[in-house]
Amino acid sequence: MSVSENFNAVTDRIASAAKRAGRDPSSVRLVVVTKTVGHDLIREAVAAGAVILGENRVQEAKEKIEALGRIAGWHLIGHLQTNKAKYAVKLFDLIHSVDNLELAVEIDRQAAKIGKVQDVLIEVNIAGEASKAGIAVNEAPGLARAAARLNNISVKGLMTMPPYSDNPENARAYFRKLRELAETIKKENIPNVSMTELSMGMSGDFEVAIEERATLVRVGTAVFGNRG
Ligand SMILES: *Cc1c(COP(=O)(O)O)cnc(C)c1O
Repeated sequence: MSVSENFNAVTDRIASAAKRAGRDPSSVRLVVVTKTVGHDLIREAVAAGAVILGENRVQEAKEKIEALGRIAGWHLIGHLQTNKAKYAVKLFDLIHSVDNLELAVEIDRQAAKIGKVQDVLIEVNIAGEASKAGIAVNEAPGLARAAARLNNISVKGLMTMPPYSDNPENARAYFRKLRELAETIKKENIPNVSMTELSMGMSGDFEVAIEERATLVRVGTAVFGNRG
């Protein structure tokens, strides 16, 4: 299958999952994950209709954005080191991976320098896995409150990666937990914090994520095939 056929198949599956859940398909946005993917295939995905591209490393994204330009929106989905915040604010429309206050403060400082309000998501370690990035569930509301006091950062919602499993149904409880956490934070009515975005679901489990109200799904393999 070609990239455009894969892309169309994924968008069809997104629309079906949304309808099954009684949702408007346009309430789910597809982030096409382009890490390790070459320029030609990225152009193919954009020609097929991709409007958001996701990268997990700043340096790789920088090279691609310099080569390809702003052919779509660019999101950072991977871990961000504080010392790379300076580059990240220049490159990305949305940073999905803010998981500590020091990083939020540095993003704010760098965004202020270039006169930008940087949209971010708080990444949550939803299953409390030792090996995973993300803030602990019980610390996420505090991070949202602290980030709300920063003028050049705008918290739009939450992101998570559940434990790996072959069975997408195993992720459902974690997706639901992220949604419930977003609802809890939303009830606090923190100024400058909206909980409109839930970034969850990848190639193996995006339909379940949509049923649990994901607004951003991050899909690489189902569009480009297995990364070598
Ligand atoms: C690679 C990656 C994805 C996409 O994973 P696929 O299984 O290839 O769809 C999604 N989110 C993050 C954070 C990733 O690093």
